[in-house]
Amino acid sequence: MKIRNPELPYYPISHFYRQHFGEKVYKIPVSVAQSCPNREGLKGMQTCNFCDEWGSAAYPEIRHHSLREQIVTTRQTMREKYRAQKFLVYFQAYTNTFSKSQQLRQQFTEAFSFEDVVGAVVGTRPDCISDAVLDLWYETSQERFMAVELGVQSFDNKQLEWMRRGHLVDKTFQAVERISRSTPQVNLGIHLMFGWPGETDQDVVEAAKITNTLPVHNVKLHNLHVLKNTPLAQDYEAGSFQPIELEDYSRRVMLFLQHLRPEIAVHRLAALSRRSEELIAPRWTAKKMEIYQGILDYLRSHQAFQGQKFSPRQSESRLANFQ
Ligand code: SF4
Repeated sequence: MKIRNPELPYYPISHFYRQHFGEKVYKIPVSVAQSCPNREGLKGMQTCNFCDEWGSAAYPEIRHHSLREQIVTTRQTMREKYRAQKFLVYFQAYTNTFSKSQQLRQQFTEAFSFEDVVGAVVGTRPDCISDAVLDLWYETSQERFMAVELGVQSFDNKQLEWMRRGHLVDKTFQAVERISRSTPQVNLGIHLMFGWPGETDQDVVEAAKITNTLPVHNVKLHNLHVLKNTPLAQDYEAGSFQPIELEDYSRRVMLFLQHLRPEIAVHRLAALSRRSEELIAPRWTAKKMEIYQGILDYLRSHQAFQGQKFSPRQSESRLANFQ
């Protein structure tokens, strides 16, 4: 089976962007949402057990700046560092569709007032998608690149309950179907986590097979890690949770990629903990290049690549339902 990138054993999102835009584009992560249903305790929900107070923001120190200031600052840094010329504004932290859609509409207007911002990427969760938000995404996708990243994390209800997500797998399938049907131009991605207590290699293979049956364009992979002041930190201190080692995680990534449809782009292979002072364990998740190189070496030493064990028949029936 042919893979898309002769240099790498998987199809990286950077190659997708290059194919789509004809040049490299850079994501500007912004932190404008202030909360999420879990943190607000809606319907008895609780903060996800792995989530720190910053709600997955890459750069929480900028959250008190206006959206315009955040874009201007990061854009300038990327221009100087990478000679970047085109950008996607990535609404990353917390749940960006939790407030009224009008707020997100205004934020889009602000973001698109920069000539070199060619699209938006919105991070949200499966149970926070209203008709008004779908309308906004549809309108936007008619004129610009519009991407959505759904925090799916797992296709296993037991794992979702353990992490206190506040929704189950059927909500994920409903959300993916609604987005796909209502906004077919939207570039849809899902986030998945590996390293749950009791997780097996077969669970990871199943996650790839389920992903293959969904109309998604990309995935982002995370390893579950322990941050200070999280419920997971208490479990770790009590000895009831042990994070996965890099070698085991690399094997899970390999299995996932081998069974993944070759045309699904991959954002990243593991989580990176940028704020090392907040990281409790595992320490390897703070070393970006070492993690990446370690996983790549593992894939290459096993001559493994994305789609190696994928069978198109696996995904046909359910995908057809979405078309
Ligand atoms: S992971 Fe997302 S949904 Fe869960 S508590 Fe953090 S910000 Fe909220």
